[in-house]
Amino acid sequence: MEEKKQQGKKNTQRKAGQPGKTQMSQKTQGSKNVKRSSGLCSLSSKCGGCQWINKPYAEQLSAKETRVRKLMEPFCKPERIIGMEQPTHYRNKVHAVFGEDRFHNPISGIYEEKSHRIVPVDSCLIENETADKIIVSIRGLLKSFRIRPYNEDTGYGLLRHVLVRVGHTSGQVMVVLVLASPIMPSKNNFVKALLALHPEITTIVINVNNRGTSMVLGEKEQVIYGKGYIEDTLCGKTFRISPKSFYQVNPVQTEKLYNKALEYAALTGKETVVDAYCGTGTIGIIASDKAGKVIGVELNADAVWDARGNAKANNTSNITFYQNDAGKFLVEMAEQGAKVDVVLMDPPRSGSSEEFLQSVIKMGPGKVVYVSCNPETLVRDLKVLTKSGYRVEKCAPVDMFPFTEHVETVCLLSLKDPV
Ligand code: SAH
Repeated sequence: MEEKKQQGKKNTQRKAGQPGKTQMSQKTQGSKNVKRSSGLCSLSSKCGGCQWINKPYAEQLSAKETRVRKLMEPFCKPERIIGMEQPTHYRNKVHAVFGEDRFHNPISGIYEEKSHRIVPVDSCLIENETADKIIVSIRGLLKSFRIRPYNEDTGYGLLRHVLVRVGHTSGQVMVVLVLASPIMPSKNNFVKALLALHPEITTIVINVNNRGTSMVLGEKEQVIYGKGYIEDTLCGKTFRISPKSFYQVNPVQTEKLYNKALEYAALTGKETVVDAYCGTGTIGIIASDKAGKVIGVELNADAVWDARGNAKANNTSNITFYQNDAGKFLVEMAEQGAKVDVVLMDPPRSGSSEEFLQSVIKMGPGKVVYVSCNPETLVRDLKVLTKSGYRVEKCAPVDMFPFTEHVETVCLLSLKDPV
């Protein structure tokens, strides 16, 4: 699911907002002290995820600010970029691929860029440190449990990948062991040994992936410890994160991003709001307290399932989720003459579609809040909306992925003459 919002473009294995692994060779302590990043990572050239590993954080922020300012020139003067206090170890989802070196010792890390050769990694500048430590511990346990990493060429071995997800506010930790077959010898003792090393782990799931694909996770899952999911809190609402759920990877910045989007929406409690490209419903559920009703639309069926569960868990009764293409859905709404006050939209990198934008124009909501992970497609879409009566009032860049070139932008449009 996370593949939808690709941020890292070089490494084909990389997922949304997973700019890539970097190995720290030097300790850093937040933005103020991250002065000269040169030498921060000895693996960055092989990984390719952190394009800006050698840029001091202040320079990264000003480069992102300048890029957005230039692109937004025809529309408005952006606010200052919202950066991170501590721009390191922000990723709450960490993935490691497992394999063997030529002496048959287990190794774990990343695929080298454009290859299937594994580069060993123990720690990474942008990943959650607990997650990194858990992966190293799992690697250390393999030999004594006679668990062989999976070999892609021969098809022998069991452990393919480990995925660790950490709840930023809850502190809950989920470990997903991706295996080539459903049978794991001494499973219970392995769980005991891992928990003895990391009592912070709250759930362990086996995921079976016996296909020759570059997708990390397979279909089948078996919970071997705990609830099978973790929970986390964003802007006061609780969200359930399962192994396959989409969840923004930088929770600290996600709160700032959503708060900015809600500030722009300035809801009064009466509005009908559309949350388009809603993923697991996060923005819509957070907005629901201040709206009359919210309509969420999302293409991915799993995400819609999670969104409905999230709404229930938060006792949100004024939100409904639909599984559909956002463009098609809006065309139907417009044809039915639906009245919408605010459209919140957060499309993937490719941006929105012509039919979506034309339907927005047809329905004429007073406000559109556009959350974008690609300023180029944002500008393309803004051109369409501003040609038909919308005006860009404000916009703010947000740094969701420090050390990478990616920048998120929130934008408020209003209708000059509301219908
Ligand atoms: N707003 C959410 C998710 C944003 S990611 C959040 O902040 O977490 C973009 C979402 O758009 C993904 O969930 C993806 O599945 C969805 N998507 C992509 N193309 C779509 C389409 N044509 N119609 C509806 N949803 C789409």
